[in-house]
Amino acid sequence: MPLQFDLGENEYKDWVISLTEFHSHFIGKFESIKTLGNGYMGLRATSEERYLGEKRNLFIAGTFNKFSKNETTELPNAADITQLTITINGNNFSLKSGKHREFRLELNLKDGELTRSLIWQSPKGQEFYIVFRRFVSMDNLHLIGMKVEITPINTTADVSISSEINGKITNSGSQHFEDGKKRVHDKKFLELNQSTSESHIDFVFLCHNKMYTESNANAVSMITSDRRNIKQKLFSKVHQFETLIFEKKVLVYTSRDKEYSSLDPGYDGSYSSRNLRLASLIKMRKHALSQIKALESKGYDDLLELSINKWHQVWDNIDIQISAKDNFDQIAIRFALYHITIMTPAHDNRFSVSNKGLSGEKYKGHTFWDTEAFILPMFMYEAPKTARTLLEYRYKLLESARNKAKKKGYEGAMYPWRTAWINHGEASPVWGSVDINTGKSTIIPTGFIEQHISANISFAVWQYHIITDDQDFMDKYGYEIIFETAAFWASRFELDSTRDLYVIKDIMGPDEYKIYVNNNAYTNYMAHWNIQKAIEYYNTIKKEKIEVFDKLKKNLDLQKKFDKWNEIIDNIYLPKPRKEDSVIPQDDSYLNKEQLDLSKYRNQSLTQTIFQDYNMGQINQLQITKQADLLMLFYLLGDKFSNAVKRVNWDYYEPRTLHDSSLSLSIHTILATDIVSVEEAYSFFKKASRIDLGLNMKSSDEGIHAGAMGGIWQDVICGFGGVRMLDEKLNISPKLPKIWNNLNYAIYWHGNRLKVTITKDKLIITKKEQQSKPVDLIVHGKEYKLDTVLKITLNQEEI
Ligand code: BGC
Ligand code: BGC
Repeated sequence: MPLQFDLGENEYKDWVISLTEFHSHFIGKFESIKTLGNGYMGLRATSEERYLGEKRNLFIAGTFNKFSKNETTELPNAADITQLTITINGNNFSLKSGKHREFRLELNLKDGELTRSLIWQSPKGQEFYIVFRRFVSMDNLHLIGMKVEITPINTTADVSISSEINGKITNSGSQHFEDGKKRVHDKKFLELNQSTSESHIDFVFLCHNKMYTESNANAVSMITSDRRNIKQKLFSKVHQFETLIFEKKVLVYTSRDKEYSSLDPGYDGSYSSRNLRLASLIKMRKHALSQIKALESKGYDDLLELSINKWHQVWDNIDIQISAKDNFDQIAIRFALYHITIMTPAHDNRFSVSNKGLSGEKYKGHTFWDTEAFILPMFMYEAPKTARTLLEYRYKLLESARNKAKKKGYEGAMYPWRTAWINHGEASPVWGSVDINTGKSTIIPTGFIEQHISANISFAVWQYHIITDDQDFMDKYGYEIIFETAAFWASRFELDSTRDLYVIKDIMGPDEYKIYVNNNAYTNYMAHWNIQKAIEYYNTIKKEKIEVFDKLKKNLDLQKKFDKWNEIIDNIYLPKPRKEDSVIPQDDSYLNKEQLDLSKYRNQSLTQTIFQDYNMGQINQLQITKQADLLMLFYLLGDKFSNAVKRVNWDYYEPRTLHDSSLSLSIHTILATDIVSVEEAYSFFKKASRIDLGLNMKSSDEGIHAGAMGGIWQDVICGFGGVRMLDEKLNISPKLPKIWNNLNYAIYWHGNRLKVTITKDKLIITKKEQQSKPVDLIVHGKEYKLDTVLKITLNQEEI
């Protein structure tokens, strides 16, 4: 295993992911998984020196741009600031030249710092101990810090380091920026301004470099610039055993930052006038310059310290401890929490999480149902404020969703499958990869027919409401989302006169291997749930919140919608278990399709290999499922099905599932804790937790799997840790795998902080706020009242 998890020492034990050999073929994997970030930006862990196959990515959340009319909007890859050309006694530093030993590349999850150290022997045989360090600040969202230390071991050295702000960067060839302007201030602060070509977002980069040794406080400097690039080269001599230190601080601001876009009262993505845009740019540049000047005297270590303090505050809230036979699971859950933290733009409700986080170009920075169904539960229980911010993004999208519904001839709000900036509407591309059997490009149907996302968003709103008790959110945004999506579904269902039931035709469920099917069970049930919840909420607020009710009734023309919901709710077609074997048809045609021996495709480490033998049209005609579909329904609406029915359907569908989406394994893990066995669940978890952190050296090249990170969290807390909101009540019914000794975590429920400790035979729950009302909860079917502490003995069978 190239990755090692046991090299962190003392307070860093179980916090460090190390690589002890340089693998030039697998740099994509390490660049992705060791990405740094703070939700404002994400910086892939590309080396300072360049290698073939690298992807130098820096993404600033929310700065979408459309390269050309026929391409969909995407998060542009901003200028590269990490590249350093290091020359030592005439040799360019590279691991491809000379020799190296004692290589270590480490991501410290606790501190949010990336380090690399090694001894490099140059082609001349001279040896240097070199350390690279880097962080993206949690304290100052705009700041990136870098440091290099070079110590000659058997020689003295002339060192030059060339440091750039390099705008010669594209997204796989799509150039999103205009050339821009370069400037130098006081001969030491480098500036690059660039604007995106279509969305006209202004970017300001400011950078300060410093190089020194004990005997030479100031290196000689030379500043040059060329097209899209500004560069400073620093020169210094360094003696044997003396350490040369290079430090780089970079600040990044964009006109999408709230501070600048709010200068324009009409701001909806672009400035309403040239003058306003210019005024905002001037203000931003001035601020950036004053900030970099203020940082001049601050060292890397001081700035890192501030960032570390913030990271430790984050961990105080979200850390989960697993003690087990080995520490992989402990590292895996911290890895997931780390990535969820760095990829979530918690500072701004105008954009959301992308399903590659801010770690890669694939999926273009877009937001999918992955956010609501996979990532949001973590925030609902661990950081409710951020959960609210992410849901506010969906509220801001309501207009886009209404437009999409209208365009398709429906009512209410039909959320786009993929979204970017709040008023962009559907961001799904239409053309996908080449079908190698026909030789032609394939159409991507998801933007047209994968519609369950509207129900997932409503479901998340409801979960958030019950888990946090945030009534203010519901009054302002939540009810409206649920009513409007319900109105969409009510118009989406059509009456099938042969059955005298309301059905959904030409749809795609979570299983993207079944296209234009009728009555995908998952979608029908979720849409039915959405309408039913709308009826319930309507009745409640009509009684209890008359002001909110009156406003919504008027604005949304609710009475008409309510009548329609009631007219169809009891006649919606909800596929039931078949008489002969209790199998629920995934859709109307699935069970009549041909079956195929899938062992060849299931027993390998790569996904989507089926496309080497079959094209989409053929796969559509076979009983092959891409990811949890019906089984996802059993997780979300578990109380609508008996365990016996769930188990029969698990036995039917799991063997027909290729787990070709990274969202599949985690759902199977949780469901297995309910209906199969904890050990079976654990065998799924082993795979789910290794999607990015495991041995597959290619799967993360294009970025980490954001939804899968949320899945890992749900497996640990909702699966093994037993936390579920069922029937609007808190359940904590743990089931630890045999190899875990204990599990510690904390969650919020209705604003109360509950600390949970689970051992082999005990469950201890402590409520921090002792003055607040007792919390009602259910443990393995029994009701309890938690005042301050609850200690419950667990039966072995329950575990
Ligand atoms: C869709 C994804 C799908 C992918 C296939 C995207 O546009 O939204 O859900 O898996 O295309 O390439
Ligand atoms: C999955 C979808 C998912 C999308 C983005 C696809 O491969 O099938 O469920 O939303 O990827 O992660």
